[in-house]
Amino acid sequence: MAKHESTELTREDFDAGPSSADEIEPSLYLGNLTAATDVKWLKDTKITHILTVDSCPLPRRIQLLPDLTVKYIQLTDMPREDFLRYFDESHDFIDQALTSGGKILVHCYFGVSRSSTLVIAYMMKKYEMTFDVALDVVKSKRRFVSPNSGFVAQLKLYGDMGCTIDTRNVQFKMYRLQIAADKVRKARILPSTYVDLIKPDPALETVRPEPTVYRCKKCRRIVATASNILPHAPGQRHVWRYVSRRGDKGKIIPVKDSRPDQLCDKIYFIEPIAWMPDILHNVEGKLNCPKCEAKLGSFSWISGCQCPCSTKIAPAFYLVPSKVEWSNAVQNVLVTV
Ligand SMILES: [Zn+2]
Ligand SMILES: [Zn+2]
Repeated sequence: MAKHESTELTREDFDAGPSSADEIEPSLYLGNLTAATDVKWLKDTKITHILTVDSCPLPRRIQLLPDLTVKYIQLTDMPREDFLRYFDESHDFIDQALTSGGKILVHCYFGVSRSSTLVIAYMMKKYEMTFDVALDVVKSKRRFVSPNSGFVAQLKLYGDMGCTIDTRNVQFKMYRLQIAADKVRKARILPSTYVDLIKPDPALETVRPEPTVYRCKKCRRIVATASNILPHAPGQRHVWRYVSRRGDKGKIIPVKDSRPDQLCDKIYFIEPIAWMPDILHNVEGKLNCPKCEAKLGSFSWISGCQCPCSTKIAPAFYLVPSKVEWSNAVQNVLVTV
């Protein structure tokens, strides 16, 4: 390994350890970076595909090996990394490798957390297993696999969504808002890859307007639809939250959420919507009606908001019920006729 002139530590100064890989199911291997760069082992094992999930891609000498297909997903081992968005594509890559009669190595640096997360997600989807069962299966072949707490939470959410991405799932919406809030906390601005979280202005929706809407009480402009609401139960602990640990390192921890029998209506938490221009460049502020400027609520990317029922949600975008009124399609038609 080349010694560097500077005293600064580089990635090469940390050793991934001896070559280590285990066959989780026929032709599907889970291992470390050393295995992925061990040309003799790759040849002897007849590996045809490598899925790398790491902060750096494989060296070119490996990428250029003949008869080898590589895929690279850039993710670190931080609990707040957004793995969920890659589960489907990593599943497809593994599946293609296996159905074409090949042999695949899924690896990260140590073959403990990130790569095991992708393999567990693959097993959950392929065999319709719960997270716990899939973890046991993978552990029975590679005993020290251990996805970090944030990845466990994401795997469980993936399972709850039927091993697919359900963009209407409220927990998934909260999960993505949480990931976006983390980016806002660091950059003080919402990165463009998360602008899809900002929902279209329902007042401008002409194609398929939703029947149930919330209007500004003062001027009656539509400000939200029923599907923009992120419902919560009184006193519920938020479904996704960060727990600060060791300074800046945080964890996403899913809090057990029994089906609420009764939803709280003291505050309407909603998704961010296109008529809220300040939310793109401010960390918190007021939400005023885009037509009459009446104050309807507030938003806070980082601190969030505690509802009078004691439920706390972060990030929070909310409307105060006394400032808005609910109306449905019948009423809307009557109003416009
Ligand atoms: Zn208004
Ligand atoms: Zn409440």
